[in-house]
Amino acid sequence: MKVLVINAGSSSLKYQLMDPATRDVLAKGLCERIGIDGRLTHKVPAKDQKFEAEIAMPTHAEAIEAVLQALTDSDHGVIASMDEIDAVGHRVLHGGMAFTESCIIDDACIEAIKECIPLGPLHNPANLMGIEACQKVMPTKPQVAVFDTAFHMTMPEKAFTYAIPYEYYEKDKVRRYGFHGTSHRYVSARAAALMGRDPKGLKLISCHLGNGSSLAAIVDGKCVDTTMGLGPLAGVPMGTRAGDMDATILEYLMGRYGYDIKEMLTILNKKSGVLGISGVSSDFRDLESAAAEGNHRARLALDVFYYDVKKYIGAYAAAMGGVDGIIFTAGVGENAAGTRMAIASGLEYMGVKMDEEKNNTRGKEAIISADDSKVTVMVIPTDEELMIASDTAEIVSKL
Ligand code: AMP
Repeated sequence: MKVLVINAGSSSLKYQLMDPATRDVLAKGLCERIGIDGRLTHKVPAKDQKFEAEIAMPTHAEAIEAVLQALTDSDHGVIASMDEIDAVGHRVLHGGMAFTESCIIDDACIEAIKECIPLGPLHNPANLMGIEACQKVMPTKPQVAVFDTAFHMTMPEKAFTYAIPYEYYEKDKVRRYGFHGTSHRYVSARAAALMGRDPKGLKLISCHLGNGSSLAAIVDGKCVDTTMGLGPLAGVPMGTRAGDMDATILEYLMGRYGYDIKEMLTILNKKSGVLGISGVSSDFRDLESAAAEGNHRARLALDVFYYDVKKYIGAYAAAMGGVDGIIFTAGVGENAAGTRMAIASGLEYMGVKMDEEKNNTRGKEAIISADDSKVTVMVIPTDEELMIASDTAEIVSKL
């Protein structure tokens, strides 16, 4: 089955055409500057081919048309016609409490995604634009929504409840939701396979460390806690996002500088995290270089990041009553051996023993703990597109 995976942002749209059974990626690419002018980058991995073009994209519908044109082009296309696409899978950020798993997109599903807009005000409208564009351009293709929040819906009440007046949960659905769920779901299933264990009976901590970062505690293949919250601003410090902090800081800084809430949130979302501490960059490679050259704030930013990730690993081991496996994934987790070492060192007391040589790996599945480590530490490259394509194929095959 060939599935077109779509991840629509407000002015961009990423796509991948793949066969989830064989994991073959036939083509992938990116539409940018939608609503401004329009630019397409299209890649065919099997032929190492790249095609770039300026194409007018006043709306997401023209972007999807450009994608279909590229996929069927006589030079850089990979299919003869649109008929070869069996289904479309969409990444949707916020499924609120309505979605515990992926689902076929029908009118009720669209209504429910719309109802989640107040919870995901930046992403859900963009995701809906992607869905509506595909419905317009490919009206007969079945479409599936895969939610970033769905995997976390198994969290127990005690893990998702905030200690604020309960009516805000009852009336306004204020609770921990968590994100990166598709990634945590994928890597935790792969981890069980790599360990040769059934997910049942397994306690895992998944560390998705990228530009955005979150950790998840997973028991029996189900999420029991995660670091992000109502939105993706909570948890460990990130590239530019603050992570957990004392809400008093908002009042204090807003009072001192006259910021309104929008300005304050821009600071916390875009100017904080390791960028905010270091003043150097949000990119971990830049921070490592600057720290190696003696830049104190770059060193401090990395230390704060390592420390907070380590603290959450300890917290989740306590919450689960132990841990069998720790997973590192996403840009930093998959590539930065030094970061993994810095986080995992000092955890010997809970049975983590790293193997320096095995840890010297990048971007491929590997066990990086010593053979006699009680806790298996792993690198598992995430593949959210494969997960979206697999869910789509599974749901569509049952129609
Ligand atoms: P992601 O959001 O998953 O795409 O991850 C992006 C982050 O991964 C950026 O901050 C990059 O600096 C980081 N990253 C990618 N490769 C490396 C590397 N070799 N060492 C350290 N960080 C890396």
